[in-house]
Amino acid sequence: MRLLLIEDEEAAARAMEKALRRENYRVDHALDGQAGIDAAFSSPYDLIILDVRLPVKDGWEVCSEFRARGLQVPVLMLTASGATEDRIKGLDLGADDYLTKPFDLGELMARIRALMRRKPLIEDSNIRIDTLELNTRSRTVSRSGNFIRLTAKEYALLECLARGVDTLMNRDTISERVWDAPYDPFSNLIEEYIKRLRKKIDIEGEKPLIHARRREGYILTAKKFA
Ligand code: CA
Repeated sequence: MRLLLIEDEEAAARAMEKALRRENYRVDHALDGQAGIDAAFSSPYDLIILDVRLPVKDGWEVCSEFRARGLQVPVLMLTASGATEDRIKGLDLGADDYLTKPFDLGELMARIRALMRRKPLIEDSNIRIDTLELNTRSRTVSRSGNFIRLTAKEYALLECLARGVDTLMNRDTISERVWDAPYDPFSNLIEEYIKRLRKKIDIEGEKPLIHARRREGYILTAKKFA
């Protein structure tokens, strides 16, 4: 489990980091809102702990930017006051839970465990193929650790191919799973999306993973494909 802690108060951050590491979480720490955004979009995290009062960009701005840019990772906000408006604001902006400062570290751990237990969180959320990594919970994709921005449909198509890794997938299956509609042989929608995905995923210096077989369909594989 990899967590990102966005908190500017050093003593508080140190105490949280120590407690989190004791529970075997891997923790990265960002000191202001913008640094937090940069970190969150450059590598996949399982959970983000976000303080509200931060320099450069505050926690509200950070959280709404995450959601506006499609980052689905669970966010636990640390609010300075227990004011109801603050909690509602956080939840409206897409936070999953909040904790009012000052809090007990045991309470923090309990909230994190509760967020991790939520339904889709049960399955292993990481799919790794060669240097490609998908986090199906946050719906984020990286190649050799570099975050790749995809549209919702591009992501859905990639996840569909990745879940069937090493198996040739025909267009009917892809169309049903990604577009929830029967395949239209007169449309080149799938081809078009595959082309876009390849540009983003099979980048220079990396092994090509997405392959086409005429009339049959597509396959995502790191193995030799002819
Ligand atoms: Ca703060």
